Amino acid sequence: NTGSLTKCEPSLAKSDWQRKLTPEQFYVTREKGTELPFSGIYLNTKEAGMYHCVCCDSPLFSSEKKYCSGTGWPSFSEAHGTSGSDESNTGILRRLDTSLGLARTEVVCKQAHLGHVFPDGPGPTGQRFCINSVALKFKPSKH
Ligand SMILES: [Zn+2]
Repeated sequence: NTGSLTKCEPSLAKSDWQRKLTPEQFYVTREKGTELPFSGIYLNTKEAGMYHCVCCDSPLFSSEKKYCSGTGWPSFSEAHGTSGSDESNTGILRRLDTSLGLARTEVVCKQAHLGHVFPDGPGPTGQRFCINSVALKFKPSKH
């Protein structure tokens, strides 16, 4: 029994997410929070593998596109599945975010807030996906 039958809930209910996630994961992915710079567990991870979404488990970013931006958050030059400038086969979506009174581009998956993308990354894409460690779950490549 989940209450009102008229209520349309495409994703999990808030209480379900609170059970599934740690408080910090909940704050970042559900309430669009940002972890403190230089606090994330994946900031200096250089191991080969894939970064998955902590909420929906989608493969989002490959270690091949991870680089050190010096900003204090894990940074990637493109999303996994990107083909040229086509992101239709990736696990991410872009959304305009004006929450701080300036226009930024929020990066989300189908279910969760992940971070932001900025146009000051390394070539050839020139993009910096600035992603919260707590929104990610790293899975090392099997060798
Ligand atoms: Zn997700």
